[in-house]
This record gives sequence, structure tokens and C-alpha cells, in this order.
Amino acid sequence: MKLSNNQQTLLRMLPGVDLLLEQSKKDTFFEGIPNAVVVNSIRQTLDSRRNRILAADPSIDEQNLSDSRIMELVKESAAESMTPNLKSLINATGVVVHTNLGRSLVPAEVIQNLAHIAGRYSNLEYDLGAGKRGSRYGSVEDILCEISGAAAGMVVNNNAAAVLLCLETLARGKEVIVSRGELVEIGGSFRVPDVMAKSGGILKEVGTTNRTHMQDYENALAENTALMLKVHRSNYSVIGFTAEVSLKELVELGTKHGLPVMEDLGSGTFIDFSKYGLIKEPTVQESVAAGVDVVTFSGDKLLGGPQAGIIVGKKQILDRIKQNPLARALRIDKMTLAALEATLRLYRDEDHAVRRIPTLQMLTMNLNELANRATRLADDLNAISGSRLEINQVELSSKAGGGALPLLELPSKCLRIKIQGLSANKLEQNMRQNTPPIIGRIENDAYVIDPRTLLDDDLPIIRAAFEKLLN
Ligand SMILES: *Cc1c(COP(=O)(O)O)cnc(C)c1O
Repeated sequence: MKLSNNQQTLLRMLPGVDLLLEQSKKDTFFEGIPNAVVVNSIRQTLDSRRNRILAADPSIDEQNLSDSRIMELVKESAAESMTPNLKSLINATGVVVHTNLGRSLVPAEVIQNLAHIAGRYSNLEYDLGAGKRGSRYGSVEDILCEISGAAAGMVVNNNAAAVLLCLETLARGKEVIVSRGELVEIGGSFRVPDVMAKSGGILKEVGTTNRTHMQDYENALAENTALMLKVHRSNYSVIGFTAEVSLKELVELGTKHGLPVMEDLGSGTFIDFSKYGLIKEPTVQESVAAGVDVVTFSGDKLLGGPQAGIIVGKKQILDRIKQNPLARALRIDKMTLAALEATLRLYRDEDHAVRRIPTLQMLTMNLNELANRATRLADDLNAISGSRLEINQVELSSKAGGGALPLLELPSKCLRIKIQGLSANKLEQNMRQNTPPIIGRIENDAYVIDPRTLLDDDLPIIRAAFEKLLN
């Protein structure tokens, strides 16, 4: 490739790595930044400039190749590589259990317990009474039983692991009867038939997509049947001409034929959301009371705790599950365990749980509170000088998210924000690239902020981001 004279001149302007490194040693900005990071940032900056010159990028001229400009870019690159990739952000989407944004936030007291346990030795697997090795699940089993009414319980890494472990323990090489209407796919590639296949269980589908009857289950019973499984549909709903067999009826059938019944409850909740004006979700306690042999659910969906898979049920079944070597591979770590125990303890007093657990607090937030927050934020933003901002309070809806309560539209008071001369897409992008990032949504060509999922200290950050953008 023949380079133009201009390109050759520009290439010659690029300083050498050594020179920049020398300069960086005299600059306090680089104090505390490891040498390897500085060198890497210098190389990357020079490479990127060189490539743009070679590509004859018209925006590259002598001015932005000055040593001082190059040094600025090196600093930006070094600063960026010193900030962690996993960072906190502001969820202004109104989706409470937002799968892409980390699902549930754990309450302050839970974080305290987590930090305390993580930095110290603990009785994680030590029986203090007997002075010898103890069970990892000991710390949460009692409280799980107390809240759910089950006889035994354990926890693993997540609910997908819980389902896999239960199926592998109870049905490897044997048939598992499931309704066709419950062969769901949850986001992130959890699909009931695939998990079943991985567990070694043989899927025996019964019924149709919209209707499954008792007779269907009965007809499918065979010599090789090991289990009947019920799966919460989670992220979709079957409406219209439908029929399904209740958990209670399945348990009756199982008892008659000496077969265990398992339920994958998905989100799992200990509180009845209908009491708070939301849609009724089956609770863990109801499943246990219906006589289910084993039920699994997530720790970080509607429960509002850390990521975990919780398994409760009959003692004999749980003993088998705990002894499965696979349990070791799927085990929960001590920090999660500390956070989970602290979360579960909050459930001893339901009012307290609803007030203290962010997921529950956001889901049950009333319209007055939402309107107050929307007004506060609107006032904050309107106080920014500049007539380019147009803010309206509108009634839109929030979502539970996390594949839970798919039909639930939570009425919310949102801010609809437009900036003259800036498209909604550009505004969204700008907010997303803020430090910390602010994630809103676009609805009807306007940027929307839903106050339901905001934390109190998010408001000044949002204001600052708009101020920066407008000034
Ligand atoms: C979400 C969900 C899972 C997976 O749970 P994770 O905690 O994400 O592993 C499994 N089954 C159902 C029905 C679910 O809704």
C-alpha cells in the first residue's frame, strides 16, 4: 500500500513508547498504576492512532497527534483499565428483578453479614458442639424449614443447579412425567427438556400445550417411572381454553402409586403477593403444605436474596440429594451462604421483610411513593438551567422481571424526558455511557425513567448526568 505524504508525516509524529513511558514516570496521575498497565495503555493508544492514520481517517490531523494529546489518551486508557469491568449502575427501567442488571439487590444488613463472614474464619463446615466436621447446609436448613414448613432443606449455586441435582438424584435412567404445557425455556438457555437430558432423566411428556388432565398422567405411569415433575411456567402464561392438574392432585396420584412429586417453582416466594394488590403467585409454603416431596426455587428472584438454588422437602429425599456427589460440584459458596442466611432471617417477620428487602419493597411500592419520587426527580431536573429539557410525569407500568409474574403490569409514575435537538436513542446512549451508567428505557420515542427501581442516592447522580449533558 502506498502511503500519502500526509500519512507519512503523521506517522513520523507518533512518539515512541519509551518517550511516553519516561514522561509518565514524572506525572503524578500514574502514581499507583502498575507499570504493565501504563505500558499496555501506551501501546494501545499508539496502535490505535497508527491504524487510523493508515486507514486515512480524516479526523486524525497534526493537532490530535501532539504529545500532550497522546498523553491524554494514554491516561484515559489507563484509567479505564484500572476500573473494574463489573460495575454498579442505576436501574431506571422499572424492571425490578432485571436479569441483565443483576436481579435482586441484597439489603444492607445482609451485606454486613456477608462482609463479616467473608473476611474471617467461620464454622462453614464445622460443628461447634461436637468439635468436628459439620454440614455446609446447617446454617440455613433450620430457618428454611421454619419458614417453609418442610422437614429438610439444602442450597446450591442456583435454581438451575437445584433442578439438575434433584433430577439426577431421583430419576437418572428413569422416566419423569411432565405436562407439555410446562416444558418451558427460561432466559439464559435453561430449558426443561435439556436439563432433563443432562440429568440422565427420561422426559415423558403428557397432555397438550394448553390442556393436561389427570388421565394423561395416569396413562403415562409405567414400570420405569421415577418421578412426576411440575414446572412453574414463569415467563409465560397459558390463557383461554386451558386445564392443568394441581400440585395437590399430583401428590395424591404420587401417593397412590408410591412415586415422588417434584416442583420447580422458579422464582419462589414466601409471601402471598395478592395481599399487596399484586397477582397471586404460589408460595413455597403452599407447595410444602400440598405434600410435595421436593420443591426448588431461586434465591435471587422474588425472594430478593443472593443467587442461590434452594431445595426443601421430605427428609428421606433430601438425604439422598445431599449425598449425591454432584452436590459437591454445585455447592454454594460461603459468602452467598452468609447472605442467604441473613435474608432468610428477615422473613421471620413478613412486614420487616417487605420493608427491608429491596425487591419486595420495590414490588410493593405504592403509587403515592412513586409519584413523590417522580416529582422530586422532575424538580431536580427542571432546576437545571436550559430550556432544552422537556419533562412530563406519565402513568406507565413497571415489570417484576426475572421471568416472574409475566402478566403483571405494575402501575407506576414515570418521567418522560425529551431534550430538544437530541433523539431519544442518543439520550439513552448518553445516559448509558455515564459514570455510573444509567439504564432507562425508550417508550413512544421518549426517554423514560421509572422511579420504582431507583435508590435514594441515585437521584443526585441522575441530575448530575443531565447537567453535564445540557451544559
Ligand atoms: C428462573 C428459573 C429457573 C432457573 O433459576 P436460576 O436461579 O436462574 O438458575 C429454573 N426454573 C424455572 C421455572 C425458573 O423460572
